[in-house]
This record gives sequence, C-alpha cells and structure tokens, in this order.
Amino acid sequence: MTGTAAAVENSPIRRLADWSAARLRDLAAEYETPLYVIDIERVRENAARLREAFPDAAIDYAVKANARRPVLEAIAEAGFGAECASAGEVVRACEAGFSDVRYTAVNPPSRDLDRVVELADDYDITITIGALDTLDRLEERGWSGSLYVRVNPDIGVGHHTKVRTGTDPKFGIPAGRAVAAVAEADERGFTVEGIHAHAGSGILDSEDLAAHRALVERLSELAGEIADAGIVIDAVSIGGGFGVPYRDSEAPLDLDALARATREAFSADARLGIEPGRYCVADAGVLLTTVNTMKPTPETTVVGVDAGMTVLARPALYDAFHEIRSLAADSGGRETVEATIAGPVCESSDVLGRDRALPAPERGDLFAIGNAGAYGYEMANTYNSRPRPAVVALDGADAERCVRRETIADLGRYER
Ligand SMILES: *Cc1c(COP(=O)(O)O)cnc(C)c1O
Repeated sequence: MTGTAAAVENSPIRRLADWSAARLRDLAAEYETPLYVIDIERVRENAARLREAFPDAAIDYAVKANARRPVLEAIAEAGFGAECASAGEVVRACEAGFSDVRYTAVNPPSRDLDRVVELADDYDITITIGALDTLDRLEERGWSGSLYVRVNPDIGVGHHTKVRTGTDPKFGIPAGRAVAAVAEADERGFTVEGIHAHAGSGILDSEDLAAHRALVERLSELAGEIADAGIVIDAVSIGGGFGVPYRDSEAPLDLDALARATREAFSADARLGIEPGRYCVADAGVLLTTVNTMKPTPETTVVGVDAGMTVLARPALYDAFHEIRSLAADSGGRETVEATIAGPVCESSDVLGRDRALPAPERGDLFAIGNAGAYGYEMANTYNSRPRPAVVALDGADAERCVRRETIADLGRYER
C-alpha cells in the first residue's frame, strides 16, 4: 500500500454508513443485542492521526471515554500515556500496559488516594490536584511525588453546559490562585511537573477553536508567571475535548487547524500535553439494538428497541444526538417514516432519537447507533435492574467478545 492510499484510508471520520451492514448483522446474530462493537483498528488510526498532528506533544488518553481492555492496550502500544479519573481507571491503565499514568483527582475519595499512592510504588504515576487540601491528604499518606496543578481557566468549551468543565468552580484551582498553589506545593516538597486545564468536550467549529486558543494562551501566561516566580515546570497540559461530528451533516474536526492554533497560542517554555478521549474512540464504536415494538400514534411512530438510557446514557444525560441506521437487509425498498426510537426504561427521557427519518421499521429489525465508542459502555448502568450489554472487539477480520453480557443473576450478586 502506498503512503497516499494509507492516508486516504485513515480518514478524519468513520461515518455510520461506512460500517458493513452484513458484518454488523452477523455480530448481532452471534452475540445478540444490545451489543457494543468496538473496532480496534479504527482506534489505532485515530491515535495515529493525533500523533501526526501533534508530533512533539505528550499525548495522554482520557481513559474514561472507553476503558475496555483491548482499547487500552492498543492506545498504550501507540505510545500514549493515560489520563485517569479514578483509582479504578488507574488500576486498569497500569494493568493494560501504560507506562505513564496520571490520576486527575477531582474531590478524590480517600479510598482512591490510598490505592493510587500504593500503586505509585510500582508504577510511574503522577497526580493532578484540583484543590490545595489534596496536598495535606497526600502528605498524610507519605506521598510527595510528581504533581500537576489543575487550573480553572474560566474558559469553557462544549456541546452542552453539562460538559463545560472550564468554567465550573468544581474543577481546578482558580487561575488567579494557581501560581500561589504551585509555589505552595513546591515549598512543601512536591515536584510540580506541570499545570493542566480541561475546558470541556466537543471542540468542532471555529468558535470552539477560538475558546481553545484562549485557553492555551491563558495557560502559557500562567506558565510564564510560574517561571518568573523561580519555579521550573516541565509540562503544560491543555486537556482534551477534541470533538467528533455526531451528525452526518457536521464536518469533522480539522485536526491540523487545531494543532496549528495550539502551536500559535502556546508560548510556554515547557512540553505541550494533550488529553484526547472521545477523539480516539467515538467513531470506532457502534451500538447494535433490535426493534421489539412498533406503535403508530397520532404524533409519531414509536419504535421500541432493546437498548435504552441504561445502555447509552448520552441522549438522556446531555440531549446528545447519535445517528441511527437501519441494518434491515431489505430496508432499501421500504418507504421512509418519521420515528421516535425509544428504549425499555420507564422514564420519558429514555429516547435514543426523535423525529428520525428511517425506512419503515419492522419488529426484529436491527439498528446501528453511531459514534458509540466514547462514553457509551462506560456510562452503562443497571437502572430498572437492567443488566449491562456485552462488548465485542473487532481487529481486522477477528472478533472477540471482550465483555460478556451481564445477567439478572449478576445484579443480585452483592446482595444478601
Ligand atoms: C474527560 C477528560 C478529558 C477528555 O475529554 P474528551 O472530550 O473525551 O476528549 C481530558 N482531560 C480531563 C481532565 C478529562 O476529565
């Protein structure tokens, strides 16, 4: 294969229509639905594009986007570090082979700190603090290793207010107090390796790019003030939030433009760090679900499916949009109807899509839901005592079940 062919193949987005309907039908037949499918080869392609756009940056994968083992192993093999949101993610990242692991402690439960400090004996772990009193809690545990200080930049980016972390006081130390916080950590004997901020999730268009640029400038200024205070830091991490187009009508993120804007705005005398989560995995995954009920109503046709908000929480949680495609083999010949695709949970927010034009669905049809690789399985839960779905990982022609379907018996396991 020539270089050009490889570049064309590694396109900036895999659309839902690009997945082979026949293969997805086979997987549903073998593993049943609801089923998450994650294509590891696509994860590698996404990682490769990020590396190409940011050749000199430290890239840490935000594990919370998808922490399934084959995903973590592929990303660790690509040479990325891991950005973790809990002790559980730290454990999973270490076990999957990441050599550089960061725990970003947001109001860290004591049990998390205990476990992470214990793991730091055997693994290279850095801790990001978002409040000064975390220093006390780390000292109490005899830990004074490498730290990042999380800054609240007061700049937010995001597809929904619920994902704009950059302006939410919950996250990070206010920018105006960040230099003092770095100085205090330094005086108390911690090694302050860098500063960090994460503005939110879903940078896609030029407006988001402007906010991103402002974030990078603010962090660069802070790094300058820290240097003026006589403290040397090695790294400035600007967080993740690289968006993917959830709608077919949206253009993919121009990664090179984002990288260029980042370089132009970055003036710190330190290594740039990025923490993409969604971008690595979103379009590498689809969710398969089966139509179980067809109900004409005066308002719309309600299409009942076997996956709802407990399987894919994003629509209920953030009003997130996911494309829905019928995989019925004969769907080409059917008339188009407007439908509401709803799950089996007794909540009115349990709707995966409204007013969708689909080839007239029939009971037993298979649907694929696009861009389900990020924050899909990770957010699955057991509300309504509904077992969580299975996950199958593809790699080339191979398919392997990497998470088995939970059973109703599993749900009662911890009860007496
Ligand atoms: C969630 C998160 C990310 C990744 O966000 P994406 O939108 O998935 O890229 C990066 N850094 C931190 C600290 C996060 O909490």
